[in-house]
Amino acid sequence: MRPLDKGSCPTDETGDPISVHDYTLWRKRLIDRIGYYCAYCNMPLSHSLQMEHVVPKNPPAGYTSGNPLGWENMLFACGPCNNAKGNTPVDFNDYYFPENNNTLLPFQIRIHPNHEDAAIVQKAEDLELIQQSKAENTIALLGLANIDRRNNIVDIRWLKRRDALVAVESAFTLYQVAKAAGHAHLASLSMVQWAKGIGFFGLWFEKFRNEPEVMQALLNPDILPGTAQDCFDAADGYKLQYRNLHRGINPI
Ligand SMILES: [Zn+2]
Repeated sequence: MRPLDKGSCPTDETGDPISVHDYTLWRKRLIDRIGYYCAYCNMPLSHSLQMEHVVPKNPPAGYTSGNPLGWENMLFACGPCNNAKGNTPVDFNDYYFPENNNTLLPFQIRIHPNHEDAAIVQKAEDLELIQQSKAENTIALLGLANIDRRNNIVDIRWLKRRDALVAVESAFTLYQVAKAAGHAHLASLSMVQWAKGIGFFGLWFEKFRNEPEVMQALLNPDILPGTAQDCFDAADGYKLQYRNLHRGINPI
């Protein structure tokens, strides 16, 4: 799950924060800031851009509702992620969210151990117990390990994720060949264009984690906007780092 920083509320020509009367009016500005991907599974979104209220606007009775119109509460989500999350109350202490945490750290995408045609999101290895529990909560909240084999299948994330996994493996092999031939820079730019088309960015950031030139290109906001830069240590080859290290609470 790509960590996101969509920036502060866009402003009008006088510098005042924009307010809207219809939350779908944020779509264009969200595309400009974070691209057209599901914020959770990172599947590229096609013809149907669903807005996602991070804190639900209609939670069950007794829970605080999120701002139905506020920029700070808006992301994109695909149908399956949006439907899985629904109106579940969100306590940020129980989950990992792409605007709060370095969401590349607690998750990994793998072929399902019993279903080799499916790739699912799992909790990463070597997590502390509390981190494991939050990673599992998040995977369950969003249905990121779901496999939908119904005839009227709706959720194709597991299929698209599998395609992406195979594509990233292939891209990595090609990158190594190009790099050995002295074309690392050109190849790194190609990698990012492929990543933009394929999405599922966790795969790219994991596979190319020891290739700083590709990492730098992946993080270039002019190519792929919205990746939270503070999740990477630019002084150490763009290695992943805790996002909340200096905020005192809720590491990762
Ligand atoms: Zn999704």
